[in-house]
Amino acid sequence: MVPRFHRLLVSVFAAFVVRCTAFGAAVAGEGTPTKAKRAPLPRYTEAEIRAFVDEVVPHVEQVMGRKFKAIPPLVIDDTEAVARILAADMEPAYRREHPTLSDSEIRRYVLAQARRYAPELLGKYGVKAEKLGLLPKNLAGTLAEHRIDAKYATGILKTLLAHELTHALQAQYVDLVGMLAGAKTDDAQAASTAVIEGQAMFVQEQVGDALQHGPAAREYSRIFSLESQDFPDPNQRMVAAHQEFTYLEGKRFAEWHYREGGSARLWEILAKPPAVTAMIARPATYAPTAPPRPDLAPAFAGMALLWRKRGWVVEERELGEIDLRAAYASAGRDTIDAMTEPVRAARQLAVQAPEAHARFRVTVFEMATPDAAVRTLEHLGKPISGEVAALEKRGSVRAKRFETRALGRVAAKASREYVVHLEDRHGRILIDRRMVLAARRTRLVEVVIDDYAMPNRELRSLVERALGGKAGSAE
Ligand SMILES: [Zn+2]
Repeated sequence: MVPRFHRLLVSVFAAFVVRCTAFGAAVAGEGTPTKAKRAPLPRYTEAEIRAFVDEVVPHVEQVMGRKFKAIPPLVIDDTEAVARILAADMEPAYRREHPTLSDSEIRRYVLAQARRYAPELLGKYGVKAEKLGLLPKNLAGTLAEHRIDAKYATGILKTLLAHELTHALQAQYVDLVGMLAGAKTDDAQAASTAVIEGQAMFVQEQVGDALQHGPAAREYSRIFSLESQDFPDPNQRMVAAHQEFTYLEGKRFAEWHYREGGSARLWEILAKPPAVTAMIARPATYAPTAPPRPDLAPAFAGMALLWRKRGWVVEERELGEIDLRAAYASAGRDTIDAMTEPVRAARQLAVQAPEAHARFRVTVFEMATPDAAVRTLEHLGKPISGEVAALEKRGSVRAKRFETRALGRVAAKASREYVVHLEDRHGRILIDRRMVLAARRTRLVEVVIDDYAMPNRELRSLVERALGGKAGSAE
């Protein structure tokens, strides 16, 4: 499979996807917790939940500095109703992604998706429906899955009310649907989502502290961090890394701006969200308009056409900070910061053979300086070594071949080539990967080839073109 960037979380926007089905599957496959002592979970009556809402509302208003125009009607423990609330909010994003589908096709498709997710949700404020759907019956499962003590249940329920009510308040003053639909790029949409979710995360923690539920609120936030889960499949890790960015980097962004400019600043940003996720990761760089990014589309112009003609499936997209962080999530945070800080633009071409597993992807980076290009090249090589070590540590695989060497006959300031063959205990090949890195001037190229013996000449010409064409001088 071409490593597709999972857009579910972006598409769902403002939904509170605590347990994505992908995560559920991952966790179920892992060693289930050894019968953790589970205190019986309190069963909440509707009256109690309404009382919690009354308790939480003034605190949300206090942190956000604005009053609710109306308290949204509650829908409690009705999974089908929550699926419909969710579906209504998913529609615009799906319409955008599938412009050829008819309205009724989109509605059907989206409702089917929403019905898959709803049984995993704890709550969802419906921006379109203007209702707050709550599924406290799913609380027990969520706590068990994330190994959170049942004593935090009430605190977590109030925390999630604070989160969803923040979305309700946001929606009463700002056109959230229009804001997301109006985003010009995927990265702009991801940045808007991180603003919306980050504010809700920030408010939920503030309210948790105010209600003496600080530890519960922090346990709940932990659900959004990669550390709380294990991912045998790199694609799941990628989805989770997108989620972590949206919620936790989003929260740090909100925190930073609240410290600088209070709740007024939060509303200013909601009105003019950043156009790139790089500003979410570096709050001090926020500006209502982003400086223009270098256009890397020409680097792939001929290449995409060539492979399409050969019948391969070609996907091309610009990569924002959120995508880069997800792609290199196995590196530590400091390393990722150092890697992405000097990135001016990044673009990726993913190419997949029509039937076989053969596939490759080319990522082109335009860096601030030639030195940064070489430094990032060094960083890019680290995750592959780290992954090989981690896989071997699991014990189920062994590296049959792991080599690194300089790439021959490409005029580059720096280059590196990795060959990785991993097999399982029965000698079956699990990973057959070749990775090439090359830097020239401010351009950096990464090629990753899986299950495909690309001829050397072809690989060299591909790297040359991605580096910006034949360079007379090997600089
Ligand atoms: Zn949310």
